[in-house]
Amino acid sequence: MSAKTPSAPADATSRRAAKPTVVYPAGSMPRPDMAILESARQTMVKTQEIVVPPRDARAFRVARGQFFRIVSIEGPQVGDLNLWNAHDLSERFFSGKTRALHATHVGTGDRLWSTMPQLRPMATISHDTLGWYGFDADGAGIHDVIGTRCDPYTNLLLSGTSYDFCCHSNLSRALAAELKTDARAVEQHVHDVLNVFMCTGFTADTHQYFMKASPVRPGDFIELFAEIDLLGALSACPGGDCSATHSSDVAACHPLKIEIFEPDRTTLGTWSWPSPSTYRRSHGAPGNP
Ligand SMILES: [Zn+2]
Repeated sequence: MSAKTPSAPADATSRRAAKPTVVYPAGSMPRPDMAILESARQTMVKTQEIVVPPRDARAFRVARGQFFRIVSIEGPQVGDLNLWNAHDLSERFFSGKTRALHATHVGTGDRLWSTMPQLRPMATISHDTLGWYGFDADGAGIHDVIGTRCDPYTNLLLSGTSYDFCCHSNLSRALAAELKTDARAVEQHVHDVLNVFMCTGFTADTHQYFMKASPVRPGDFIELFAEIDLLGALSACPGGDCSATHSSDVAACHPLKIEIFEPDRTTLGTWSWPSPSTYRRSHGAPGNP
């Protein structure tokens, strides 16, 4: 740091000794009934497969009550996932609130929350074959909600070169193809992602975002249960396993597969489907009831 560090006040030690409080303790949140999802999983039948080519993305639709998997095939590969309400693109995955409600990395039983004003679970993680990984000695975990997505704007800023196959662009093309429009017209709908299979953390000394080679191997998958009708898009990141680089054609890249499953709906009979938040949206503004 070039700026001079201010001198510490006399009570710096006691100020630093304040005890941390978990902002949103897990116990205060409504928890999904995983036993219901487990029984539904036992009945589910695959209805669709979509292969996402390397350095590209594909859109897909999942009906409420279906499951979908993101599967590693051929080799270690990171995926960038966007989710929208299939009937209203303004309701989309809210990475920041998901991080605050759960943790920097998500796993089985965690939920992917949507933006305000709906703020509800869009999907619940029902299975994760990388659930064994936990946090490693570097403090890294899998499936982060701390990164954003690689994008051509940051790449141009930092490298001075234009690269067209960052996840942001891949997701924009996939969404445009699904909506039969132009990538420029839809890129504002692309949002911060779930970094599927990505192995990331913050450095212990400088707290900088780091990545390391993903431990994912062919056959691994993360599986999610759709709480609402979803439109999704998945990019096979140009960083490949994100061991060293991204935003270029240098890294070895592999395809990813999306699999969609239909369960026996009777197994979901007592499932608690999420409604949009009931906050009255008065915001303390004069005239608002
Ligand atoms: Zn990427």
